[in-house]
Amino acid sequence: MVSVRAILDRKGSEVFSIDVAESVLDAARLMNTRGIGGVVVTRDGEMVGIFTERDVLRRVVAEQLDPAATVLESVMTTPVVSCESNTGLDECMQTMSNRRVRHLPVVDGGQLAGILTSGDIVAHQVREQQDTIEHLSNYIHDPR
Ligand code: AMP
Repeated sequence: MVSVRAILDRKGSEVFSIDVAESVLDAARLMNTRGIGGVVVTRDGEMVGIFTERDVLRRVVAEQLDPAATVLESVMTTPVVSCESNTGLDECMQTMSNRRVRHLPVVDGGQLAGILTSGDIVAHQVREQQDTIEHLSNYIHDPR
């Protein structure tokens, strides 16, 4: 069974986070700078929520809130659904699909150990399919 660890081994464990007291504008700038679609929101270093581009659309733009004057605490999603690094990828995909989320923070023993996104899973599956195609192609050309 392929677990989240296989993806984190490749991707690394860095998670971009931001304090609840920071503004939506700060979060948007962080997401843009890092090229990511969501950030973990922390209070005193502990994960207390998550804020993604979907929240910018639904809770900020559509509500005509001022991004510079809106603190993340008021627009983040809480509680956060998470997984562990030994959770199976199938289970993570099920969770993402059922909960309609594209981000799953990875928490091991209470500590953030990385973040899994739907994009990471797609990239992993593409790599696996390429490996299979290469393997079968080699076999067809030299079946010994
Ligand atoms: P996403 O598809 O990840 O951009 O998120 C869609 C909605 O689900 C947004 O309101 C997010 O704040 C929320 N969300 C995303 N990931 C999680 C998560 N792991 N736990 C709880 N809510 C989440």
